[in-house]
Amino acid sequence: MQQIAVIGAGTMGNGIAHVFAQHQYQVNLIDVAAPALEKALTTIRQNLERQLAKGTITEEIKTHTLEHIRTFTSLAEGVKDASLVVEAATENITLKLKIFAELDQYAPADAILATNTSSISITRIAAATKRPEKVIGMHFMNPVPVMKLVEIINGYATAKEVTSAIVTLSEKLEKVPCVVNDYPGFIANRILMPMINEAICSLYEGVAGVNEIDTVMKLGMAHPMGPLQLADFIGLDVCLSILQVLHDGFGNPKYAPCPLLVNMVTAGYLGVKSGEGFYKYTKGSKELVVSERFK
Ligand code: NAD
Repeated sequence: MQQIAVIGAGTMGNGIAHVFAQHQYQVNLIDVAAPALEKALTTIRQNLERQLAKGTITEEIKTHTLEHIRTFTSLAEGVKDASLVVEAATENITLKLKIFAELDQYAPADAILATNTSSISITRIAAATKRPEKVIGMHFMNPVPVMKLVEIINGYATAKEVTSAIVTLSEKLEKVPCVVNDYPGFIANRILMPMINEAICSLYEGVAGVNEIDTVMKLGMAHPMGPLQLADFIGLDVCLSILQVLHDGFGNPKYAPCPLLVNMVTAGYLGVKSGEGFYKYTKGSKELVVSERFK
C-alpha cells in the first residue's frame, strides 16, 4: 500500500494522516471544509514540533511527514489512486453511508475502504458499497500519534486477506492491532461506555462526588484518568450516542443512558469541548476543577 486517503480532517483525521505520513506513506487528506484542512496541517505541525522537542523524532522525519501530506476538498480527486481509504468524517450514519457509496464509485476497484467509526455497524456501512468484502473498521484511539491500539473490526462480509493486510499495516505504523467482530460498541466502547454510565449513575444517585468517583478508579484500579474526566474528554454527546447504539443494538435495559447524562447533553454541557461537564475547563489552565453544579 502506498497512497492512503484520509476522509475528514478533524480530531482523528489529522492524527491518522500524521501517523501514516510519518511512516513514509503518501497521504491525501480530504475534507469538505477547507478551514478544517488548514487547521489540521497546523495541528500536525505543532504535534511534530512536540515530538521533536521530546526527541522521539528527528528534524528530517518532521520535514518528510509534512511533505507527504496533500490536502483536497474533492473526494473524487483525493481517492482516485488510493490503495486504502480511512474514513474519519463526522459520526453520522447517513453521512457515512453516502461517503461509502461515493468511495465505491471513485476509489480504485481493489482499494480497501476502512472506517474509524466509534460505534456505527461496519456491516451496515459495507452494505452501502458493492465491495463489502473490502470494507473494515480501523478504529484508532485519540490522540492517534500517542495511543498504541488499533481496534480492527471485521464486518460480517470482510475478507480474511483484507483483515491480514490491515493488521500488517497497523504494525508498520508501530501500533498494536486487535481484531474483533462487528457487534454494537465493538470491544472498546462496549466495555468503556457502561463503566462511564455507571460512574454517572453513581453521581446521580448521590453515592459519591465527582472527585471521589474519579479518585477511586484512578488510585484503586490504576486508571490514568477517572471515568468522569474521561467522559468529559471524549465528549458527553459522544458518550450518549454510543450508549444509545448499545441500548438499541442489544435491546437490553442495562445500557440505558443515565438521565443525568441525557440532561447534561440536552443543556449543552458536553465536557472539554464546551468548557464544562463534570469539571470546568478554563483555557490555559491545567488544573482540574469540579463543576460548581456538583459541589
Ligand atoms: P470531528 O468532528 O473532529 O471531525 C470530522 C471532520 O469530518 C470535520 O472536519 C468535517 O468537516 C469532516 N466532514 C464532514 N463531512 C464530510 C464529508 N462528506 N467529506 C469529508 N469530510 C467531512 O470528528 P472526530 O472526533 O475526528 O471523529 C471522526 C470519526 O472518528 C468519527 O467516526 C468518530 O466516531 C471517530 N472516533 C472519534 C474519536 C474521538 O475521540 N474523537 C475516537 C475514535 C474514533
